Amino acid sequence: MTETKGQMSATDFDAVVVGGGFAGLYSLHKLRGQGLKVRVYEAGDGVGGTWFWNRYPGARVDIQSLEYSYQFDEDLQQQWEWSERYAPQSELLTYANHVADRFNLRPDIQLNTRVTGATYDEAADLWQVSTSQGDKVTARWLVMATGCLSSTNTPDFPGLADFKGRTFHTGAWPKEPVDFSGRRVGVIGTGSSAIQSIPLIAQQATHLTVFQRTANYSVPAHNGPIPEDVVRDVKGRYADFRAANNATSLGADWDYRADLAMEHTEAEREAEYEMRWQRGGLSFYGSYVDLLSDPVANNTAAEFVRRKIRQIVKDPAVAERLCPTTPLACKRICVDTGYYDTYNRSNVTLVDVKAAPITAITPTGLRTADADYELDDIVLATGFDAMTGTLTRMDIRGVGGVTLKDTWAEGPKNYLGLSVVGFPNLFIIAGPGSPSVLTNMLPSIEQHVNWIGDTISYLRGHGLKRIEATAPAQEAWVSHVNETAAPTILPTCNSWYLGANIPGKPRVFMPYLGFAPYVAKCEEVVANGYEGFALA
Ligand code: NAP
Repeated sequence: MTETKGQMSATDFDAVVVGGGFAGLYSLHKLRGQGLKVRVYEAGDGVGGTWFWNRYPGARVDIQSLEYSYQFDEDLQQQWEWSERYAPQSELLTYANHVADRFNLRPDIQLNTRVTGATYDEAADLWQVSTSQGDKVTARWLVMATGCLSSTNTPDFPGLADFKGRTFHTGAWPKEPVDFSGRRVGVIGTGSSAIQSIPLIAQQATHLTVFQRTANYSVPAHNGPIPEDVVRDVKGRYADFRAANNATSLGADWDYRADLAMEHTEAEREAEYEMRWQRGGLSFYGSYVDLLSDPVANNTAAEFVRRKIRQIVKDPAVAERLCPTTPLACKRICVDTGYYDTYNRSNVTLVDVKAAPITAITPTGLRTADADYELDDIVLATGFDAMTGTLTRMDIRGVGGVTLKDTWAEGPKNYLGLSVVGFPNLFIIAGPGSPSVLTNMLPSIEQHVNWIGDTISYLRGHGLKRIEATAPAQEAWVSHVNETAAPTILPTCNSWYLGANIPGKPRVFMPYLGFAPYVAKCEEVVANGYEGFALA
């Protein structure tokens, strides 16, 4: 029995948090700080979420570390020193562990435990949660800190199980170092994970064959130590730095210009793109305000990147194969170190599997429609069942025993990305319908956790036991999310934003475009007495 303000609650925990990544860690800290009894369940044997699982060579963040870090604790953000502009996976994992220790979070985190299901008990207004370890616990609030890219996608290649060599997925990489020396390696996919790992695998492997279905845009990271004066400058005004970033549409310091690409001459645009290419990183997004909305403007930036590829890659046929034909940023832009140049190596081959699709994995390699490739290792850089996969794989049952999976059979529907009709007291952090993957994830996570914490505090303070989105509010929000994305180039290619990478997944644009307006909307909802929610 846990004590809650104004009432005795017959629950094992006030809140169960699913997932021990950055969202889960901060949820625990925040809710426990409000006096709640909290239990975090984490499937891995350590904390860190994305940075626990994605240990592939070259894995690193593509948002500058001074931004991709928590801001809830001033001492933490002042004292933590990032070694590089874009921290590698190992350092991000160390950071997650540091946070777990620093705030004494571990006693309330149960590792090696996957939440398998949760059922809402309508009579008692609580969640009954079950886990892979046989736990059956109750909690008033259920917080899904399950990550947007946490369920790996392994395509159903015939013969994969019979491959005699080693198989890896970038999103579930072994803890032990993997040595590719002396091996013929095949990498399937050319998304961010592939683009980061390919240059390093190529340095070890006897031969690397990259199987590319869709070429992607990548800009150089120009990674390295963060100059001391930059660290001093940001730390000297951290709160203002964060506030300025949060006020942008994508929630990151991408030096946005407010003018239109087509207002400028070709030479001016070229100079702008070149400046951003030399600076490196995703601030390329900020070049002009209309890159996402005007296909003609977008193509000027796309053509700039294609010219760069043709300059870097010496074999013109390979360069052409690497040139993306989709609009720039329609899939998330990648940030690389030496990716295109890797194709100048004599031990690297690029195979177009759009022209000749993969038909099977054989015991000794990979077969496409027109050739066989002998391989010792296969690296599946084939992405994730993004945003909804982890949520719908759990047996979550709301009012009337209806499952979340069935409720979302035609695509995820919710209010503010936070709350689903029929699933009271369940909160989703950075899920579909929220800005999440179109932003710097850390501020997005913190904004959600703060909103959820404040909401629970409000409910407890008012003796309320239940919150649920209303159907009209949910309908209106889903329409708004779609209407915001529709006029942009974002829904125009087969991205995981749309679920288009998973056969049979409904094609719905999932994230919400616009961090600052989203935060304003969340605040407005509260100011209007939790407008769009039913409280009981
Ligand atoms: P991804 O972007 O979904 O890329 C998967 C790749 O696998 C694509 O090239 C895809 O081709 C290919 N593929 C999938 N199924 C295939 C099949 N049956 N046959 C041939 N090719 C197939 O996945 P990801 O690279 O893991 O990245 C996912 C997201 O994670 C990124 O967009 C990013 O948001 C995040 N991420 C971030 C970082 C970072 O911060 N630095 C690093 C890695 C990942 P198609 O494009 O044709 O579908």
